[in-house]
Amino acid sequence: MNLNTPLSEALSTKKEYILALKEMGLYTVSDLLLYFPRGYEDLSQFKKIWEAKDGEIITTKGFLHGIKLVSTKNRRMKLVRAMFYDDHGSECEVVWFNQPHLIRMLPMDKEVIVAGKVQYQYGKLILQSPTVETIKEVQIHAGATVPIYPQHEVITSKWLREKIYPLLFLTKEFEEVLLEEIIKEEGLMPKSEAIREVHFPSNTKKLKAAQDRLGYEELFLLQLNAVKAKEEWKESRSSESPVGGVPLDPEFVKDFFSTLPFTPTGAQKVTIYEILKDLECPFPMMRLLEGDVGSGKTVVAVMALLQMVKNGYQTAIMAPTEVLARQHLVSISKFMEVFEKKFPSKNPINIQLLVGSLKAKEKRTVLDGIKSGQVDIAIGTHALIQEGVEFPNLGLIVIDEQHRFGVKQREVLVQQGSPHVLNMTATPIPRTLALVAYGDQDLSVINEMPPGRLPITTKIVPPEHRETVYRFIEGKVEKGEQVYVICPLIDDSDVLEVKSVKKEYEQLHDVFPKFKIGLLHGKLKSAEKEAVMQKFKDGEVQILVSTSVIEVGIDVPNATMMLIEGADRFGLSQLHQFRGRVGRGSVQSYCFLYTDSSSDLTFTRLKAMVDHTDGFKLAEIDLKLRGPGEVYGVRQSGLPDLKIANLLDGILLDRVRKAAEVIVEKSPDLKKYPVLANMLQKLRKKMEES
Ligand code: ADP
Ligand code: MG
Repeated sequence: MNLNTPLSEALSTKKEYILALKEMGLYTVSDLLLYFPRGYEDLSQFKKIWEAKDGEIITTKGFLHGIKLVSTKNRRMKLVRAMFYDDHGSECEVVWFNQPHLIRMLPMDKEVIVAGKVQYQYGKLILQSPTVETIKEVQIHAGATVPIYPQHEVITSKWLREKIYPLLFLTKEFEEVLLEEIIKEEGLMPKSEAIREVHFPSNTKKLKAAQDRLGYEELFLLQLNAVKAKEEWKESRSSESPVGGVPLDPEFVKDFFSTLPFTPTGAQKVTIYEILKDLECPFPMMRLLEGDVGSGKTVVAVMALLQMVKNGYQTAIMAPTEVLARQHLVSISKFMEVFEKKFPSKNPINIQLLVGSLKAKEKRTVLDGIKSGQVDIAIGTHALIQEGVEFPNLGLIVIDEQHRFGVKQREVLVQQGSPHVLNMTATPIPRTLALVAYGDQDLSVINEMPPGRLPITTKIVPPEHRETVYRFIEGKVEKGEQVYVICPLIDDSDVLEVKSVKKEYEQLHDVFPKFKIGLLHGKLKSAEKEAVMQKFKDGEVQILVSTSVIEVGIDVPNATMMLIEGADRFGLSQLHQFRGRVGRGSVQSYCFLYTDSSSDLTFTRLKAMVDHTDGFKLAEIDLKLRGPGEVYGVRQSGLPDLKIANLLDGILLDRVRKAAEVIVEKSPDLKKYPVLANMLQKLRKKMEES
């Protein structure tokens, strides 16, 4: 037997169990050994029976005697009863419910450890359904810190402990992925010991060391991947590429600022500087610009575009939807117009839109303009990086809200001569998480909002207050304000989501019979979406009902209210994004979080929306409460589920990052480190598939 032995051969168990394991993604011995506990129960502290308090879970040593099966009066339930005598001469009754087979299984009159809940009934002490384990060299169910696993159907924690424990001798076959020097320097536990300790900890100190060790490895591989990808992108520009660095000219920046209708915030100036510094380099930039909704990312992007265009390069800006691409076209054209009026040049800047819905002839013209180099700024959707689009001279591409930017898209960009890339996102991702999920990019953060915005008032609305809030909204809409209604998120089902949004749309006609209501969802054709949005912008429609497709970038200053149905189903950062649609004008705005859930966790999470307006703060709370996969914008990054690593530990992350950088510096192609190279290849495959 080895790590690759299928579980169907390694375990003596029924088919049913093997099938359940398969559903859990566990096929081999290795898979099972790497199936880590989600937590632990400390059953290591022994107590005497007479010390136990009512309701307490205790662990104690002694023996069982006089087992018998009895039925309750109405014969509905079978009870197994026995007496338990502890080593100190006290005794109590023990009872198990509906497990008649225990009669045959439990060890009688032998020293055992029992752990379970103690209850006083009619003045008597009763130990309820305790775990019983005979004394062994190592206790795995009771008398120790015992692992609690994520369970699935017949696969219980108890079952897993029994199957995993005898296989632990194979942990020594796991390859040591981390380098000897890192293990030494960081004082890490050897891998095989760490895997054993994480399943069956000898003590809390060793458990912590084991978790550190395994978490370190998880993060290390991700950081190695990120550092390596960053390096690869840097190296991707060939000598024939027309793209080079362009010098930063402070006078030019001042000129541009002098044409703006506002003074840039300090944060905008800093990020502009960081970007222009990158553009000076002879290798391509890969930078992520994070800034809350409304923080003013557009002007930062415009400065970068202008810098490249002025230096003779073509540029592009890519948005996730046509609506947004058109919005960018309008706002960017305006910035450029004002600038050119004040600083005219011989060749006016040529801006063109490239989206899927263009007529064939229009498209042809734009494509020709791009190919001939006449188009300076191409604004569009994914159509921009599809086949048939040839930029002879692409210096910069700005990508707005496209969380996932995988290997394939990078290949396309390499074919376009590896331009500078600026990714923009309104999703605030905490620094530690960004370092892991987007560690292949440099990070710029706009952490300051333009002055003079009224804070949005946010309220949690339980079912009994629905009607009151509807009437409040009605009053405001009568005065000419507008409202967004967001429908609940329905997991993995566009069809159901569309159905639910249509139902909501019908119901709202009864709630607001006087108003015009628009409907927006992902299944509409892009022209239909466009038409609805336009009507809302023009004020022809007062209420816009939508699925989560609304979230990115829509700008309607007259919309002052947002009502979110089933608010508990969304992550905090996503709620924050929705909320950013309102509060764009000079009138007080409101966000109503409708929820039917009365759970404490829901309340805590939604209360955070009421208390905080800072998106980074909210994302951090989400990270703590729900874990990294739930932070909006992270799942899209292709980040695999982390089993052990703690992403809230910034210091550890920095150390891991440094270590990964050292490795890539020593051997950029990892030829010196074949084990790492192999692991990395596997990780990349997994990330591309996800
Ligand atoms: P986002 O980061 O969400 O893309 P935008 O770039 O659309 O934000 O900016 C939101 C609004 O704020 C725009 O109307 C923009 O003109 C305005 N704006 C941007 N920067 C400033 C600033 N420094 N002072 C005042 N208003 C600004
Ligand atoms: Mg924007």
